Amino acid sequence: MEFAENLSLIQQRIAAACARAGREVDSVTLLAVSKSHPPETIETAVGCGLLHFGENKIQEAKAKIPLSPSKARWQFIGHLQSNKVRDAVELFEMIQGVDSLAIAKEISKRAEQVGKTLPILLEVNVAGEASKFGYKPEQLLAELNELNALPRIEIHGLMAIPPFNPVPEKSRPYFQRLRELKLRCEEILGVPLPHLSMGMSGDFEVAIEEGATIVRIGTALFGERVSSLRRATE
Ligand SMILES: *Cc1c(COP(=O)(O)O)cnc(C)c1O
Repeated sequence: MEFAENLSLIQQRIAAACARAGREVDSVTLLAVSKSHPPETIETAVGCGLLHFGENKIQEAKAKIPLSPSKARWQFIGHLQSNKVRDAVELFEMIQGVDSLAIAKEISKRAEQVGKTLPILLEVNVAGEASKFGYKPEQLLAELNELNALPRIEIHGLMAIPPFNPVPEKSRPYFQRLRELKLRCEEILGVPLPHLSMGMSGDFEVAIEEGATIVRIGTALFGERVSSLRRATE
């Protein structure tokens, strides 16, 4: 079956990258990016042993999650708008991509209302791209203590989406930059941060070599997304 083969191949590549980096294979979580794929696909994936799924649109997640196997666990990996925070807090066990104090405050407030504490990852714009979301590194360091003081969020680490490049090795400096920034955050906070979410279908092995603990993989697992195919032919 095609999905099981894709998954097995990716797991082997993750294991090989871990071995090259002298890391334990269970130090890396495979987050299956299921955006644009239906609940049936989640069911197949859960049947093959996958547990962690990533979605980047609240509307889509809200429709999909209730129809998916209850074993599946969900992380939000998109850009969150404040009017969607309430849903996000209910639907997801972790919110990646937090990139402002305002949104972090809103998450903390909404989490408090439902009696939760929510793990978050702070998104960093590692290449300073105008088109991308994410903290500028200096701004993140400046706001870190204030973010950390919010009562109902827990900062679990950093995430980044480096500029797309067909050559995976070209992503390495950005992954290194994110790892170094995490070290600086740990110094400021005086605690270790468990997660670095970096690496996608095209570059996850390099990301693992540079310390990724969460790799977010869509296309290499599930095939091309319908929406991206459509976009490509427009
Ligand atoms: C879509 C998406 C991914 C997965 O990308 P692929 O190249 O399909 O593996 C990873 N991270 C984020 C934030 C995404 O939006």
